[in-house]
Amino acid sequence: MSAAIALVDGNNFYAACEQSVDPSIVRQPVVVLSNNDGCIIARSPEARALGIKMGQPYFKVRHDLKRLGVTVRSSNYALYADMSQRLMRILEAYSEELEIYSIDEAFLKISRPSNHDLRPWARQLRESTYQSIGIPISIGLGTSKGQAKLANHLAKTVPDYAGIFDLSVVNDPDTWLNKVDVESVWGIGSKMARWCRIRGVNNARQLRDMSSSALHKKYGVVGIRLQHELRGHSCQPLVVLPLPKKETCVSRSFSHPITSLDELSKAISSYTVRASEKLRTQKQRAGTITIFTRTSPFIQSVYSKSATETLVMPSNDTSVLLQVALRLTRLIFKAHRPLIKAGVLMQNLHSTNHLQTNLLKEYDPKVLEKRERLMNTIDSLNHRYGNGTINWAACGLNQGWVMRREKLGSAATTRLTEIPIVYT
Ligand SMILES: [Mg+2]
Repeated sequence: MSAAIALVDGNNFYAACEQSVDPSIVRQPVVVLSNNDGCIIARSPEARALGIKMGQPYFKVRHDLKRLGVTVRSSNYALYADMSQRLMRILEAYSEELEIYSIDEAFLKISRPSNHDLRPWARQLRESTYQSIGIPISIGLGTSKGQAKLANHLAKTVPDYAGIFDLSVVNDPDTWLNKVDVESVWGIGSKMARWCRIRGVNNARQLRDMSSSALHKKYGVVGIRLQHELRGHSCQPLVVLPLPKKETCVSRSFSHPITSLDELSKAISSYTVRASEKLRTQKQRAGTITIFTRTSPFIQSVYSKSATETLVMPSNDTSVLLQVALRLTRLIFKAHRPLIKAGVLMQNLHSTNHLQTNLLKEYDPKVLEKRERLMNTIDSLNHRYGNGTINWAACGLNQGWVMRREKLGSAATTRLTEIPIVYT
């Protein structure tokens, strides 16, 4: 029995999530906006059919959208993350190995049955996913990740295949590979695509068959690996266990430019609190903190500054990290500069399994343990009763700079009070 690799991808994932929890907008044109209600980042097929383009700034098209009766939603990451987890749980049940690749994409390993035909499996997976969480998916199958990606691209673009494309059983794979532009091949950047085009390599089939030595000379092992994957030789195994994070960043744009140290401190505090929670969830401690802020790059007096501090001992204790972050905030703040973005970056991360102590810093394991218990209690209260149930005074109460999300839908899967009403 040979093994197949499938790439499963949620179609128009953010828009599909919104439709999934609000029956009134199913089969209706829906668009989702980026942070601060900036640009269009997802469209339902109905919105796409109306000619609405990706990346269009909302303020430019808001009247058109209204005229066309398009539902507009601010991005609701709590909902998308929760739906993603549900999707991955279903995929896990349908596969032998699973690599979560992004919020709405995963590679699956699955053995082929004796007749090689995985289409019934794929059909069932699509049905089951749609029935359980209301998200339509596309499934691409091949013998390597590269082939699965290509097949997924075809599953999406060839309507006759109804969201399922198996490159290993299709009659004439070359015809299909001829239809895929070289730019759409997984792992090809714009520079490499240009290099290929100059050499007359315009599609996936030509890239697969081109001279390996030319590819090797220019792109080394990366180029060769890409070509091997296209030929169906698996060079990149599935990464089943998530690798420990190397850094954790929390950054946001403000709803309006801020100019006071007080507001910047509150914003940085909120991001630090969030980043500390993330560290604890990841079971890591940070050794280095960087904070940064900037003005818009389109104004005359552009300002951008960051500051970094290495901790004496790695930590994920919010109060320890807040003290450092607030100290650094005073270093990066500059009066009369309209700041539009700030962030906190935690680096030099260590697992909580070991604590690198410092010869020059005294520490009491009992105190540390007590602090850890306190942090866990805060986290579980916030988890149970909603974010911000226990908050830090440094974050302030009046957060006027918080990202604009005027069109936010409901947190239908993560907040008890917002569960959709099916029947009244
Ligand atoms: Mg997708």
